[in-house]
Amino acid sequence: MDFELSSDLQALAAEATAVGRVAAARRRHREDGWLIGHDPDFALELAERSWLGMTWPTSVGGGGRSMLERFVVFEALISEGAPLATAYFADRQIGPTLLQFATPEQQARWLPGILAGTSMWCIGMSEPDAGSDVSSLRTRATPDAASPGDWRVSGAKVWTSGAAHADWCYLVARTDPDAPPHAGLSEFVVDMRSPGIEVRPIVDQTGDDHFCEVLFDDVAVPGDHLVGRPNDSFRQVMRQMEHERGGIDRLVSNRRLYLDCLPLADTADARVRQEVAALESAYRLGRLLVLREVLGQAPKAFSAATKTFCTEHEQRVAAFCGRVLGPAAQALEPGGSEAAGLHERVARGLAYAPAYTLMGGTTQILRTILGDRALGLPRA
Ligand SMILES: Cc1cc2nc3c(=O)[nH]c(=O)nc-3n(C[C@H](O)[C@H](O)[C@H](O)COP(=O)(O)OP(=O)(O)OC[C@H]3O[C@@H](n4cnc5c(N)ncnc54)[C@H](O)[C@@H]3O)c2cc1C
Repeated sequence: MDFELSSDLQALAAEATAVGRVAAARRRHREDGWLIGHDPDFALELAERSWLGMTWPTSVGGGGRSMLERFVVFEALISEGAPLATAYFADRQIGPTLLQFATPEQQARWLPGILAGTSMWCIGMSEPDAGSDVSSLRTRATPDAASPGDWRVSGAKVWTSGAAHADWCYLVARTDPDAPPHAGLSEFVVDMRSPGIEVRPIVDQTGDDHFCEVLFDDVAVPGDHLVGRPNDSFRQVMRQMEHERGGIDRLVSNRRLYLDCLPLADTADARVRQEVAALESAYRLGRLLVLREVLGQAPKAFSAATKTFCTEHEQRVAAFCGRVLGPAAQALEPGGSEAAGLHERVARGLAYAPAYTLMGGTTQILRTILGDRALGLPRA
């Protein structure tokens, strides 16, 4: 089998690398741009280049291009650290979810803003007492007594990435409190400018505040903002997580950091050479796992394994970079506006690393999914 990309794909990747490098230079850090790099201008540039909705059908305004084309573009942009966060959640998972479950009218209402790079979306699943176990979430959507057919939403979401800038929230809420926990949930598109929404940014241990607590107090949501079948969110969320877990963002968020540290590694030391060999092997294996997901060739539920493998690799990369630079890389200075030096990037990378195996489902949960649904192992 020839794993080499065609010359067209190589040219597209080179173009995306050049674009990503220029855009990343606007950021203080080069890492994790798909999650924390909020940059509305770059979202518009992505749209102008037709790099949003690349694989969506042309009938809805998408690019109708191949999964491999999207793969090489986003692999290059994320590896370079381009500030993708404004557009990325919508491009990666909200758009595909709307294509799968929304009505044609809903698609016509919301897909154009995503494709134009003008609407930013956040994902309102996790709650203070419902992270790993989505089925225990308590945010309620109740029929609006004053406006039949519409809804009123009350509750609290947490760790909602990008909520402070988002136009829309893709929200999971309980609509049938009497049904079994996983059977009474529905999905809504909520206008983040609605009265009754309060967004409180949370500062993480790197000093960044991209994720937020979002409080909903009797927020009015029109009836035609319910996506898919009522009380069927659990199944829809599982499909949505497949989009979230198996992508290249899980493997290359730290790639630039690794490449920038590698020349400083003491490769005269056999142990360092062994570590580099292990990291290079894992990177190539992870890439093949992601490619199988992207091409639809991975077994059912296997994205749990892909995400686990790739995010544990990201953590090993951060640890390697920390060892290469030594103790000086351990102190994270408060950031200014100018580009951070390599030591600060490594310090930030070390502080950020635990997040990789939490977001999108923790490694413990994903290993259970792998054993249960992918391998069919008996439950203890
Ligand atoms: C950077 C970042 C961005 C995020 N962005 C978003 C976002 O945009 N939208 C959103 O909705 N959420 C977001 N999240 C939340 C993320 O999905 C949750 O943190 C994750 O699902 C874990 O939930 P939790 O934090 O409540 O931990 P808990 O579920 O409370 O788990 C705590 C610990 O217990 C373990 N554990 C729990 N249950 C089991 C079990 N049954 N078996 C074994 N171990 C178990 C977990 O593995 C974990 O180690 C984000 C998180 C991070 C870190």
